[in-house]
Parts: sequence; structure tokens; C-alpha cells
Amino acid sequence: MTRLALLILLTCSGLLSAADRKQPNILFVFSDDHALMGVGAYGSKAARTPNLDRLAKDGMLFRHCLVTNSICGPSRATVLTGKYNHLNGFPDNSSFFDNTQQTYPKLLQKAGYQTCVIGKWHLESDPTGFDEWAVLPGQGNYYNPDFVTKNGREQVEGYCTDIIGDKAMKWLKEGRDQSKPFMLCFWHKAPHREWSPGPQELGMFKDVTIPEPETLFDDYANRMSPARENDMSIEKTMTLPSDNKLVFPEDKNKPGWYLRMTESQRKTWDAHYGPENEAFRKANLSGKDLIRWKYQRYMKDYLSCIAAVDRNVGRVLDWLKETGQEDNTIVVYSSDQGFYLGEHGWFDKRWMYEESLHTPLIVKWPGVVKAGTENTNLVSTLDFAETFLDAAGVEIPSDMQGRSMVPLLKGEKVPDWRSAHYYHYYEYPAPHHVAPHFGVRTETGYKLIHYYDRNEWELFDLNKDPLEIKSVYGSADYASIQESLLIQMKELQVKYKDTDPTAPPAKVRRTKGATKGKAKAKKKAA
Ligand code: CA
Repeated sequence: MTRLALLILLTCSGLLSAADRKQPNILFVFSDDHALMGVGAYGSKAARTPNLDRLAKDGMLFRHCLVTNSICGPSRATVLTGKYNHLNGFPDNSSFFDNTQQTYPKLLQKAGYQTCVIGKWHLESDPTGFDEWAVLPGQGNYYNPDFVTKNGREQVEGYCTDIIGDKAMKWLKEGRDQSKPFMLCFWHKAPHREWSPGPQELGMFKDVTIPEPETLFDDYANRMSPARENDMSIEKTMTLPSDNKLVFPEDKNKPGWYLRMTESQRKTWDAHYGPENEAFRKANLSGKDLIRWKYQRYMKDYLSCIAAVDRNVGRVLDWLKETGQEDNTIVVYSSDQGFYLGEHGWFDKRWMYEESLHTPLIVKWPGVVKAGTENTNLVSTLDFAETFLDAAGVEIPSDMQGRSMVPLLKGEKVPDWRSAHYYHYYEYPAPHHVAPHFGVRTETGYKLIHYYDRNEWELFDLNKDPLEIKSVYGSADYASIQESLLIQMKELQVKYKDTDPTAPPAKVRRTKGATKGKAKAKKKAA
């Protein structure tokens, strides 16, 4: 029998799984600051995410996808390179991505993929390894955002999430070589701060009360100084005029995002917020009542932003189905990190505590991933590049530090999968005053954190203390666990080559006006 005849026979008989087929399409949906508790499939009772829930129903949901550094740019640099930030040169948001280095899109492009990135980028240098790109400069704007492309910068009227959806659909339909497989980075700005909902979602949570987390009024007892000294609380850090959208007609200094809207957009916006803002003014709230009000406003805005992402994910999923490409397309949904939805009284991210260490990961891959399954391995955004390369049949470079999740996606048990995850956060002090820290989180539910600029330690037993409100570091009951965690942490620092972890890492510094359309990355600074 010829090879072709065998292939036809196997295909027709269904014995050839999708994994054996060559080069599936990869649709990589990545949002910004999307907490697990902002996804229905992860158990949120408030979130409205029918399309993400559909994805989970058709695919695999990962309970423990952990980031290596819970902040936008560094997380994206890790996803692209499969390396920790001390090696890819992007440890904090004042860095500049060396776009001459190896990334997975470059390797996929070389292997015959059509590649594209649309949306949030936040790496300062121009995207490389993409046939097509249209990215937001810096954080971007929710209304009438600017986009940077190969041809320069242009402003587009409309709501950012929908524009990213439009641009992605346009590239899928007519912007690429249809004879080649595609890898689309469908990377949303939402639900990043300032959480401005789109016109279609305004008011969708109007008559709803969002449940409060247990630790909304945390007193930070039994933890070390960083938990008390940071600056990301709903009470003190979240601003009423901008974050909470309390803009009144007589205000002299209205927020920039508000002034950016067209007259007609502002009219729709004011029709929703105006009466609620007047009611707030009359209520004259203070203390816990004010915090509660801010929490409700924050969550409704945040979840509305997510609903628009979900709606746009639905558009692409429907299109894949309609065009018969569903069976040969891997769809991945994730975010650059998690976020605090009022837990510990906070918003924002950065910490190695559970809510920002975890990020959603849902993967649909017909014929490979069994529908409606869950995985509890400690996987990481460090593994994304390796997984995409493996799925495409491309050799994984030996200097990438993660591991392909393809065996896990196939439902296989992998006995030597990582049992502990290493984390390292750098950015300090601005803007949120979270002390730099590194640490280890094990699959057995223990976490050791070292705040190395002040030599303070925390140890959490997540089995007994899932909310992380009591550090047991130094407790006699945990002496042997503490010692074991310290050994594991040091081993992982050696494994990942973070050998001088308390020293400032190598990075390429952002220079004013260095990017925006033309600049090439300079060689990594010493
Ligand atoms: Ca982010």
C-alpha cells in the first residue's frame, strides 16, 4: 500500500487523530488582567461569559495555570520566548523588548504559518515574526483607540474590543494566504484598568448585586509588611473620578478617556452613568459603605468589559464553525495574569498570592482534547510557546524553559510534570508599591515567598488556608515543609538560571520615543 493510500485509509477510518494531521491553525485569544473569577466556567456566579463557557464545554479547562511574573509586559515576553524575564530582558513595564531574539511566532512563521497579532502588545518594540500586525501603543484606549501598524499610526473610531474583533476577522477572511495554516494572536486590551464598558454592554449589570469576596475588609494581620504597605486598595488607590467613572457635567478636569469619546458615544455613556452618579452624590457614603459601592461599580464595569471580549470570541468561534475550520483549529483562551476582584481589599495584580498568580487557560482542540475535561497539573504561561511549537510539529529549541502541554491536552498522565512552580516579581516601587519577591508554589498546596529587599518571608498552607490570610513561616509545625520548600526554590533558581536573584536583572531600558512604528531593539544592556 502506498503512503498516500494508507493516509486516506487512516483518515477515512478516523484512526488518524487531529494531532497527527499536520499543522493545525492556532487561535490564541489573550486578554489583559482577566481573573479566573471573571469566567463563568471557573465558577464565577456573576460573570457572563457564554462563549468562554462553551469553549470549556468543548475543551479542557486548566485549574492551575500559573504565571512567572504577574504583570503585563513581562508576562507577554515570557509567552513569546518561553523564558523567564531575567533571560528575555523584560522584567518590568519600563523595559523594552529585544525583538531580535527568538520567539515562537518567528519559528512558526519559518515553519510555514501565516502569523498575525492584533490588539494589546505592550512590549514597546515593534512586533517581529508576524506577517501582519496592528497593535495598541502602550496600554491603548478603550474608545477610539490608536493602532500602530507597519504603515504607521492611525486612530480608529469605535470601541477597542470590537475593533480588535473586526480587525481579526478581516485578517482571517481576506488578509492572509489561505493555503497556509494560521497563528493569530487575538490579544485584547480588556479588561485592563480603567475598565470602560463598550456601548453594547453599558448597563448589563444594572440591577444585579455582585457577591463580595470574604477578604474585602482584610486587616493584613499575620502577614509581613508588604501586604500592609502596598498601594492597590479599592479604599485608597481606586479613584472615584476615573476608575469609578464619577464624571459630572460641571467637572473642570474630566478624565482623558472621557474626553476621547465622540459626542454620540458620550451621550450613550452619560445616559447610563449620569443618573447613577447623581444617586451616589446624594447618598453621601463613607467608610465601609463607600468601599462597598466602589466595589460594585468596579465589578460591574470589569465584568462588562469581559462580556465584550466574550462576544468577540463568539464571533470568531462561529466563523470557524461556519467555514469548516473548527476541527483543524486549536483555540486557546488565556490572560497575561490574574487580578484581584476585591480579595484582600485590592484590585490589580503583581503578587504571588493565588488570585494574580493564576490565570485562566482553556484549550479546545477537536480530536485531541476530550470535551469538557479539566486538568490540575501546575502548567504555566512559560509552557505556551513550547506547546504551540509542538502542536505545529516544530522542534522546541533547547533554550526554552517551559514544556509542551500537548501530552496533557491528549489526556495523558505525565508523572514527571513539574511539582513546583517558580515565580519572580521585580517592579518596585511605582506604581503600586508591591515589594519585589520570588518564591515557589507546590502542587501539594504550599507556598513560600521571599521579599528579598527587606528579607521577609511568608509561608502559606493552601489546604488549610486557601484565602492566604495567615503565614505560618517560622512555625515549628511547618519546619520540615519550610526546609523542603526552600530547597525546592533554590533548585528551581538553578534550573531556570536565576542564579543571582536579588540583583537587578539585565534589561533593555525603554527610551523616550524609541518605538512607535520604526525603531529596532538595541542589543540587551549588560
Ligand atoms: Ca495585564
